[in-house]
Amino acid sequence: MGESANGTPVRPPPPESPLRNSKYSKVIVVDNFFSGTKDNLKRWMGHPHFEIIRHDVTETLLVEVDRIYHLACPASPIFYKHNPVKTIKTNVMGTLNMLGLAKRVGARILLTSTSEVYGDPLVHPQPEEYWGNVNPIGVRSCYDEGKRVAETLMFDYHRQHNISIRVARIFNTYGPRMNIDDGRVVSNFIAQALRGETMTVQAPGTQTRSFCYVSDMVEGLIKLMEGPVTGPINLGNPGEFTMLELAQAVQKLIKPSARWEIVDNTPDDPRQRKPDITKAKEILGWEPKISLAEGLPLMAAEFKQRLEISDKK
Ligand code: UDP
Ligand code: UDP
Repeated sequence: MGESANGTPVRPPPPESPLRNSKYSKVIVVDNFFSGTKDNLKRWMGHPHFEIIRHDVTETLLVEVDRIYHLACPASPIFYKHNPVKTIKTNVMGTLNMLGLAKRVGARILLTSTSEVYGDPLVHPQPEEYWGNVNPIGVRSCYDEGKRVAETLMFDYHRQHNISIRVARIFNTYGPRMNIDDGRVVSNFIAQALRGETMTVQAPGTQTRSFCYVSDMVEGLIKLMEGPVTGPINLGNPGEFTMLELAQAVQKLIKPSARWEIVDNTPDDPRQRKPDITKAKEILGWEPKISLAEGLPLMAAEFKQRLEISDKK
């Protein structure tokens, strides 16, 4: 038994599992399908190294694994505000359970935290050292304060129980196979333009976001998991756009006749957001490869295909 800083006995880090050296990794997906769909996993069903468990992380989970990617929690504001108590339970009890699991089996655990921990940031772009500007009692708090507690739990289990942790702070991400009615801005604008509907730019339209293509994000997460540091590390694409610029890009790509209108915004919407990714570049050798101009058409083509199929039904 080792000794932690506060004197509590801790287990030594586990030896490398033989699974890690085997030719094929085995993947167990755990999902309650609140915002996701089994359709996205169809291609893997029946694969001998793949398994799905329908489960809610707010309940105890017993599996034997050596890496845990703890991604659970709706990330679209309309989904996470739909049942805020459930959202905060997922972030607090879900993270606690995944940490308890990591502790029991000696697995390394990665938390997908969020740029929302910076709130409506007063520092721009946001480096990891920035503590954020977050409303603790607002309608977004179940998500952003929830993820802040999740980060705290990760670091307390690390310090107190010697758990091997990784924390990623993910900035806005988009790509094919997103839920068409997810409610976030890129999927909304693409779906609206394809359906011939008016794009809904929330006021004032000059607020900014930085959009990362999904395959870049997945590569960043794997590099962080297998890399040398706990984080937190920002993962995102530093290309920054206003929502009006995004609407124009979607119009140019899909339909010159596509229109937008300014609609009401929701409370506490961050006015600007752009990651400082110096750490990810220097420590993980990671930076995004796909610009918004390259990624949007890939997503639009896949959305078009799915919309054509669902319209025929
Ligand atoms: N837990 C889990 N799977 C496991 C081990 C633990 O889901 O394989 C859950 C367990 O139900 C508990 C939480 O993780 O609520 C925290 O576990 P820990 O051992 O850290 O705390 P304790 O059970 O001692 O409160
Ligand atoms: N937004 C918009 N139209 C929409 C949905 C969102 O203009 O139909 C804006 C929203 O006000 C915010 C930005 O797009 O400023 C990003 O919102 P999203 O819900 O995609 O993610 P967030 O970064 O807020 O989590």
